[in-house]
Amino acid sequence: MLSIIEIYRSIQGESSFAGLPCTFVRLAGCNLRCTWCDSEYTFSGGKKMEADAIFAEVQRLSPNGLAEITGGEPMLQERELVPFMQRLIDSGYQVLIETSGERPLANVPRQVHKIVDVKCPDSGEGDSFNLDNLNALTNNDEIKFVIATQRDYDFARDFTRQHRLEQKVNSVIFSPAFRKDATGARDASHCLISPCQVADMIVKDGLNVRLGLQIHKFIWDPATKGV
Ligand code: SF4
Repeated sequence: MLSIIEIYRSIQGESSFAGLPCTFVRLAGCNLRCTWCDSEYTFSGGKKMEADAIFAEVQRLSPNGLAEITGGEPMLQERELVPFMQRLIDSGYQVLIETSGERPLANVPRQVHKIVDVKCPDSGEGDSFNLDNLNALTNNDEIKFVIATQRDYDFARDFTRQHRLEQKVNSVIFSPAFRKDATGARDASHCLISPCQVADMIVKDGLNVRLGLQIHKFIWDPATKGV
């Protein structure tokens, strides 16, 4: 059994898969409390579902293509989740997982494309990244820094350089944080740091990283769930 918040089909909003149709399986529960978290509704509740029922719903929404496991923090349910991800892979799905990077990732099947956060200081969860996870990363994976302030940008830049992330993973993403209470307008004014400022700094610092915008927040109202 897995504890599930929602299963739905939408457009992938982040990562190098941004813009592609994707089926999302959102798991309940998180052990972190990021200041800008837009998924607080996952912290409690959730419906217990058998793996067969989750798989049937994913197949009903799309018999193939991209499937993303997200949360909350999905790796809190590692024991049941790992075989479920393997089942999706064996059935022909391209599987992504979004994770905070705090839980060990060594048991995630190698074919799963990991999108791993490294929390910056102004997330309120700096130092939560499990450094052993650097050994679990492959050039199939992505590292993401959600950046709210200049201090966060400086941390992301230094961490990227110190650990040679550009050589370790497929993409390093610097993603300006959205305000938690953002609603209404769908534009960069709701970011906590200007994407323009982040872009300028990436270029000035000569980083080979990707500026990541959460495109679902520009398409739909930023407060909308299930997109
Ligand atoms: S790890 Fe993700 S779900 Fe958990 S508090 Fe941070 S942003 Fe929210």
